[in-house]
Amino acid sequence: MNTTKEMYIRQMGIDEKVYDYSQTLLENLKERFAKIDETAEYNQMKVVAAMQKNHVAEMHLNGTTGYGYNDDGRDTLEQVYADVFHTEAALVRPQIMCGTHALNIALSANLRPGDELLSPVGKPYDTMDEIIGIRPSKGSLAEYGVTYSQVDLLPDGDFDYEGIKNAINERTKLVTIQRSKGYASRPTLSVARIRELIAFIKNIRPDIICMVDNCYGEFVERIEPSEVGADMIVGSLIKNPGGGLAPCGGYIAGTKECVEQAAYRLSSPGLGKEVGATLGVNQSFYQGLFLAPTVVAGALKGAIFAANAYEKLGYKVIPDSTESRHDIIQAVELNTPEALIAFCQGIQAAAPVDSFVSPEPWAMPGYDSDVIMAAGAFVQGSSIELSADGPLRPPYTAFFQGGLTWYHAKYGIMMSMQKLYEAGILSF
Ligand SMILES: *Cc1c(COP(=O)(O)O)cnc(C)c1O
Repeated sequence: MNTTKEMYIRQMGIDEKVYDYSQTLLENLKERFAKIDETAEYNQMKVVAAMQKNHVAEMHLNGTTGYGYNDDGRDTLEQVYADVFHTEAALVRPQIMCGTHALNIALSANLRPGDELLSPVGKPYDTMDEIIGIRPSKGSLAEYGVTYSQVDLLPDGDFDYEGIKNAINERTKLVTIQRSKGYASRPTLSVARIRELIAFIKNIRPDIICMVDNCYGEFVERIEPSEVGADMIVGSLIKNPGGGLAPCGGYIAGTKECVEQAAYRLSSPGLGKEVGATLGVNQSFYQGLFLAPTVVAGALKGAIFAANAYEKLGYKVIPDSTESRHDIIQAVELNTPEALIAFCQGIQAAAPVDSFVSPEPWAMPGYDSDVIMAAGAFVQGSSIELSADGPLRPPYTAFFQGGLTWYHAKYGIMMSMQKLYEAGILSF
């Protein structure tokens, strides 16, 4: 017999008990998974429509070298992104090195000395600290005379409208709104909540630029923050929109003015969007965007499966097993260092690449405790691929995300439970 169950048990290292437990959970997830598939179908059509409208042609898959003048593939791709995100313009480049770089370009391009940057949703993602100068850093916005103010969310997670109103002054030029909770414990913002927040800010001062850090949020819903008033959305191509195929890169999509400023900052005043060779990446950028809605759906199913699996085993999971989803990150509080290590070793053991190595906790720059990271990815550091990490400190939370296919995400979670089971931490 060639059953899937036998495959897992005989070849994939999964105990029958872990397999059976997983299968029972899935019975109850059918309806939610069907909803995710419907969103993916809608977003797939959105991407195909944008490619057709812009007459994407075989020649666009080729690259340029040197200055990259007249790179039609690049320019057309940027128009495709603009159409998918419903913006006037977009900058989509392999020269944008990561999400942090994209955010740095977007901010430093649109702010001038004397301006103030406001975060109305609490402290942003760790790597933003140095961009802003929250932690003193060479080249920060603070060094260029851009000040920063922050309004935290209320204890119940709501926006502090009164605080935001008071924080806005005549120097406030740009508001940064982080959609995903990242590695914080606040809830991720839905596009509907972002709409409310932007409307509130624009009502006070319509000329304030509203930027959304869209990392991990693309294609989770049917609409993006750029459709509810954001002037600029920013993200990484080794997360959702690269579909697992983009080998590097980032994007900034938004108003013509914001994107033009960003282009001049990325390349040089006077050059802007006109330069930038794409070498050989155009095909993977197009094809990755084409696959992204399906890949995101697989990652979402994995996150929901993980939440259900671990919650029913007695662990605290964020978001919980029934919450609606607005990004692809799942946190599991594993309570002990042994459990966190076993979890990450399971994710690693399930990888297509480097499955035979075992991750160990290590000191990392910027962290005050050892960190363990699991990734066996085709693209270095890609977090749309199955990956997990966590700092070795209470409550020993594993942050888990990605999975290029649902089946692989599922296998990764099963393998994490398997390792906890083998270590005697879990029983079924
Ligand atoms: C990943 C991420 C970033 C930074 O992206 P890198 O590619 O790691 O530099 C910024 N903000 C959020 C919310 C993220 O998830």
